Amino acid sequence: MNTYSKTDYVTVSNLTKRFGQNTVFEGIEFGIKQGEFVTLLGPSGCGKSTLLRSLAGLNPVDNGTILVNGEDITHQTPQERGIGMVFQSYALFPNMTVEANIAFGLKMKKLDANTIKKDVEKVIQLVDLSGKEAYYPHQLSGGQRQRVALARALVVKPRILLLDEPLSALDAKIRKRLRQQIRDIQKELNLTTVFVTHDQEEAMIMSDRIFLMNNGEIVQQGTPEQIYTQPENEFVAGFMGHYNLMEAKQAKQLFNMDTQKKLAIRPESIYVEEVGRHYPEHISLPLKATIQHQQLLGNVIRYRVAMENCQDCHLTVDLLNRSSERLLANGHQLHLRFNLNEIQPVRA
Ligand code: ADP
Ligand code: MG
Repeated sequence: MNTYSKTDYVTVSNLTKRFGQNTVFEGIEFGIKQGEFVTLLGPSGCGKSTLLRSLAGLNPVDNGTILVNGEDITHQTPQERGIGMVFQSYALFPNMTVEANIAFGLKMKKLDANTIKKDVEKVIQLVDLSGKEAYYPHQLSGGQRQRVALARALVVKPRILLLDEPLSALDAKIRKRLRQQIRDIQKELNLTTVFVTHDQEEAMIMSDRIFLMNNGEIVQQGTPEQIYTQPENEFVAGFMGHYNLMEAKQAKQLFNMDTQKKLAIRPESIYVEEVGRHYPEHISLPLKATIQHQQLLGNVIRYRVAMENCQDCHLTVDLLNRSSERLLANGHQLHLRFNLNEIQPVRA
C-alpha cells in the first residue's frame, strides 16, 4: 500500500475500476509531484482513458482513494475537483465563437464580466490565438481548435490538467508543434499534468516521467531515459523500441555470459567493427555476422543480421546513415561489436 507522501501532490492508492464483470484495473498505486508532467503510455485498450477519467471524476471507482494535496477527492464531482480536461475530439460548442467557448466555464462560475474578459484574453495569448477571438470552430484548423480546447481547460485555473490523446487527430507537423506548445505552457504555469498517449515517441519527448501500462497495470514507472534504456520486462522492451530479445542459451553462445533471464539489446548499441580502432573493456570482441536484409529509414539504416556460432540469432542493428557509409548488400559478411553495458536482463 502507498502511504501518503508529503512530496507527492497527487496520491493514488489501491484504485480499482470495473465495468460489470470487466475489471479494467485493480489496486493501482502511484504518486505525482506538483508541477510534474506524467504520461500514461500503453497500447489501445489497456485502461489509460478509464484511469484518466477516474482522476477527473467522470468514472466513479469501485475501490481506492485519490488525494490531491492531501485532500481526499475520491467522491467529489468533476466540478469540485478543480481539474481541467482536454480530449482527442475537441468537444467545442460549434455555435459559439472562440472567445465564448473559452469564457463558458467562467460564466458557469458566475464571475463578473470584467474578470472573465481579462482571464480569457490572458489565456488566448498563452495558447497563441490572438486575433481569432471572433472565429467559430469550423473556421479553425484542427490544431487551432485543440488550442481552444486547451485554453478552455486552462482558463478555470485547474489544480491538475488531464489530457487524453489530445494530439492524435492532428497531422504530424502540427502535432509536433503543439507538443512543444503544451509542454512550454505546462512549465510556465508549473501545472501538474497527466497526459495520455499510445505513441512512445510523444511520451519520450514530453514527459518528466512515464507510467507504462499494459492490461490495466502500470508495468514500469520512470523517466523517459530509464524506461527506454532499462526496460524491466519483455513488454517494456518490446513497446519502447526495436529491442532484440536474446534467449539465455544464445547469450551463452555469443558472449559466454551466464544468465537466467532473457537479454534485451538495443539495435543502436551494436557497432560495426572498424579495423584499427581501439575498443574499451565494455565493448565485446568482434563477432561474425551476415546481413540478411536492410531497410533505409532515412537517417538510420536498419539491418537484419544472422550471427555466426549462435543458433537462430537474428538481430536488428541500427546504423546512422552517414554519407560516407555505403548500404551493405544482403549476404555481406561483417564483424559486430556489442556494448555490454547496454545489455539489459529482462523478466518475461
Ligand atoms: P485505452 O484508453 O487505454 O485505449 P480504455 O480505458 O478506453 O483504454 O478501455 C479499457 C477497457 O475498459 C477496455 O476493455 C474497454 O472496453 C473498457 N471500457 C472503457 N470504457 C467503458 C465503458 N464505459 N463501459 C464498459 N467498458 C468500458
Ligand atoms: Mg483511450
